Amino acid sequence: MPSETKESGLDSPRSETVWTRKKFIEATGLAALAVAVTGAANAQTAVTDSKRQRRYGMVIDLQRCIACRACTVACKQENKTPPGGFYTYVTEQEIGQYPKVKLLNIPAPCFHCSNPPCVPACPIGATSKRKEDGIVVVDYDKCQGIGACVDACPYGKRFMDTGLNYHTEPNEFDRTPSPEYKQNRVRKASEPPIGKVRKCTFCLHKQDEQRNYTKLPACTETCMGKAIHFGDFNDPDSELNHLLKTRKSMRLKEELGTQPNVYYLI
Ligand code: SF4
Ligand code: SF4
Repeated sequence: MPSETKESGLDSPRSETVWTRKKFIEATGLAALAVAVTGAANAQTAVTDSKRQRRYGMVIDLQRCIACRACTVACKQENKTPPGGFYTYVTEQEIGQYPKVKLLNIPAPCFHCSNPPCVPACPIGATSKRKEDGIVVVDYDKCQGIGACVDACPYGKRFMDTGLNYHTEPNEFDRTPSPEYKQNRVRKASEPPIGKVRKCTFCLHKQDEQRNYTKLPACTETCMGKAIHFGDFNDPDSELNHLLKTRKSMRLKEELGTQPNVYYLI
């Protein structure tokens, strides 16, 4: 698994397309912890309009994460991601200097940025940010596997489903449809999502079942430490905004202007 201290789980033939823990740390600048500490004001910047436009996101409490990786497993189980591919995983970062050293466990799904560089990077409009809730999606039928969005994401939160681990004889995993986008696709050679770019959707298929967003993404539902909180930043009464008012928080690589919709409580 990518969340292990060593990156052995990603030393597969697909490792050039799946971001490793080390690459994630480098990309996010966590090695220097060069992140801006922000307060509640940042969460309040989105304007709630009359159409009740939502801005879905997460607040993740780094003090509660115990690095059990149940979120990573739950996501894989839910979305049937390909072998070696993960939508969310936990990185470990040491901060401080001996003997005052702390270990931070940092779960990281796609941040569903408010200004996502991955979206304009696609020359054919196969990836977009939904107006109604801000969730960033990929249209598997449109995507041609160009991979520009993979390169454009500064957090390494997209990967190409190369199909390299597709078995000659489909096994149980290959036969299990993925509920992603409510399309129930079965992974077959040369058919989407093989050859397409894949990423976290905040388990959009679960949200769309009710259209009232009461269901939680698999990672949030599973987290035994209650570290992951999911909700609407545009709702001033949401748990997310309450947490940001009462705790210090940070977002990764804010200096890039991506405005990630995942905050970390520190
Ligand atoms: Fe796009 Fe990466 Fe932001 Fe997700 S984290 S919205 S893939 S830029
Ligand atoms: Fe941390 Fe919760 Fe994920 Fe376990 S399930 S690694 S406690 S965020």
